[in-house]
Amino acid sequence: MVVYSEGEVQVIQATLLVLLVILITALVYSLVRLRRTDYSNLANYMADRSREGLHMMRPCPLCGTLLNRGERVHTIVFSGDPPGRRDQPREALVHMFGCPHCRPGSVAPLGTRAPRICPVCKGVIPSEGYVIARMFTRETRKHVHVLGCTECRGGRRGQGGQRNETDGNNR
Ligand SMILES: [Zn+2]
Ligand SMILES: [Zn+2]
Repeated sequence: MVVYSEGEVQVIQATLLVLLVILITALVYSLVRLRRTDYSNLANYMADRSREGLHMMRPCPLCGTLLNRGERVHTIVFSGDPPGRRDQPREALVHMFGCPHCRPGSVAPLGTRAPRICPVCKGVIPSEGYVIARMFTRETRKHVHVLGCTECRGGRRGQGGQRNETDGNNR
């Protein structure tokens, strides 16, 4: 049984504290200094992966098929507003015709073409029809608000291609 005097205990405690500080400093130093590139590479890799994952998990708004990278929903954007200030949302009219799995005329990757369902009226969109949506662009973010399809918004079809949207403020 070793009995330490009060002074010796303080010395031991101080020594342990110094050792602990050195250990932590060495640990932090090695993490920050030696593995900085590794960690930033890892972080970039993870960010890329999650971005890729988000991209892959995006479903087609018409048929609901989860779209792989490179599979895009065919859209025609009618930019209604002149380019405004960057802090103001820009609004555009969008016609959505579907993804490679459901768009009429496309060769469906899985063999059978998925039916196009209108997100608003839940009806099947005929082959000559499409979904009408508004797209708001605020800085880099795009928000698409589906208004309906050519069936449930029938009668709003303009003559000769020029479409007037006068009810935007009533919604
Ligand atoms: Zn689709
Ligand atoms: Zn509809």
